[in-house]
Amino acid sequence: MKITVSVIKADVGGIGGHTRPSDGLIEAVKHTVKSSGDLLLDYYIGYCGDDVHIVMSHTKGTDNEEIHKLAWNAFEAGTQVAKEEGLYGAGQDLLKDSFSGNVKGMGPGVAELEFEERPNEAFTVFAADKTEPGAFNYPMYRLFVDALSNTGLIVNKSLAKGVDFHVMDVEDATIAKLSLWEDKPTLEAALMYPSRYVISSIHTKEGEPILSASTDRLHNIAGTYVGKDDPVCLIRTQKMFPATEEAGSVFNNPHYVSGNTRGSHNMPLMPVKLNSAATINFCIPIVESLVFSMHNGKFTGPFDGFSTPDWDHIREIATKKAMAIRSQGFIHPATLVPDELEYAEGYNDRMSILKSKMKPMDSKTTSDDRKENYEDPD
Ligand SMILES: [Mg+2]
Repeated sequence: MKITVSVIKADVGGIGGHTRPSDGLIEAVKHTVKSSGDLLLDYYIGYCGDDVHIVMSHTKGTDNEEIHKLAWNAFEAGTQVAKEEGLYGAGQDLLKDSFSGNVKGMGPGVAELEFEERPNEAFTVFAADKTEPGAFNYPMYRLFVDALSNTGLIVNKSLAKGVDFHVMDVEDATIAKLSLWEDKPTLEAALMYPSRYVISSIHTKEGEPILSASTDRLHNIAGTYVGKDDPVCLIRTQKMFPATEEAGSVFNNPHYVSGNTRGSHNMPLMPVKLNSAATINFCIPIVESLVFSMHNGKFTGPFDGFSTPDWDHIREIATKKAMAIRSQGFIHPATLVPDELEYAEGYNDRMSILKSKMKPMDSKTTSDDRKENYEDPD
């Protein structure tokens, strides 16, 4: 049976700041989705930091209007509660006043895959907060390209053949297909810069979908800087795909990502348990792992992928790395480059004052003079 799994997420309000949704908000989202009759085969609703994710299975295909409208209505119901409760950022990810066919470009993030269900279908949703879609560049590189991180690339016939990446340029709103192994260095050059080039989807060489990530908002609003967009990614696992523990383990080296407080810093991505609030220790970026089995579109799970004791050790590493980079305050690379600051207005105010104070340099100390006076030590 052909099944579509749709993960649609949005931030429509947090308690006292960008922390987590309230119980009332979550209930409103659940109530709306539950009232959808027989539209869905199954669903799960949870949150990562201040982002609510709705995981749905159905037979309507990707980009389906009814499915997207259901998620939109659910987030609107959540927004209503957020407003009544005075939550911070009530409705902040609903950028349009009314639904128009597809949530893409309207604020919420979407990751969807349609596929022929296997007898033991397995997939994992990675949901992140306080970061951007490029946060998945490093772990997915480890998973699909780096055999030192994933032995499956040697011993699994399908993965050893290499996969096809679709990488989006979020500034130009263009997308490139890069195939392993022939495009490996080009792929590496793209993934090097996660704020501009992000993984959108991954397929096997035969075209079977493995991964979809929520890059849609970036794609649709590209051309102007739209700030950070807390991402989700959906990845099928086991058999011809990466093993579930291979997919999870690539998050065991908390790498630095853009985001966190005011969307303006580089901080490590910390794996956390399901339905974790964002920490108020400077909003360390977080990622959750929702591990599902599915049969006839019915979910079993999610198992909390980052809940076992070993991940406490990884969380400690992330915390130490976070404190280490925060120890140098606002000095780069602790903060982002000016073009990527989410709250650039205040910075621009400071810079206009700085520029107004800038005067031409004394002719005795112009750079040309300095060059002339410079004596090579050799
Ligand atoms: Mg968020």
